[in-house]
Amino acid sequence: MKQAMIVSACLLGENCRYDGKDNKNALAIGFSSRYTLIPVCPEVLGGLSTPRVPCEIVGGRGYEVLEGRACVKSSEGVDYTKEYIKGAKKALAIAKENDVTVAALKSKSPSCGFGKIYNGEFCKTLVNGNGVLAQLLLKEGIKIISCD
Ligand code: SF4
Repeated sequence: MKQAMIVSACLLGENCRYDGKDNKNALAIGFSSRYTLIPVCPEVLGGLSTPRVPCEIVGGRGYEVLEGRACVKSSEGVDYTKEYIKGAKKALAIAKENDVTVAALKSKSPSCGFGKIYNGEFCKTLVNGNGVLAQLLLKEGIKIISCD
């Protein structure tokens, strides 16, 4: 039996991006040869609709959001921190239920981004850091593979 892997749903072709499109990715889809892929979109799991307003982490990185020291906001300044944390926790629960040890996540997202995320100024500038879900999974010892 194959081991389970959490994958950002948009990488597998689900139209769950903020703009209603997908981020279909051959690398992520190819992991199906070795793993049972479990698609998750933490933003949808958190109760946000698709399409939705794009958000960035403002005032920190994913770990600071989880510690209550930064927030996730839309470009209009609406605070969606609660939804982002709720969705990340639901995705983590799914990972635990399925004994997941590795996840393939979409790069740069305020939820799924690993290593680089946008800087919170909505100017397409990247900074070092992780999104909320990526940070939560890392904290639980789950390895992350970033996919563009
Ligand atoms: Fe894809 Fe993650 Fe954004 Fe959902 S939250 S659309 S899975 S990058």
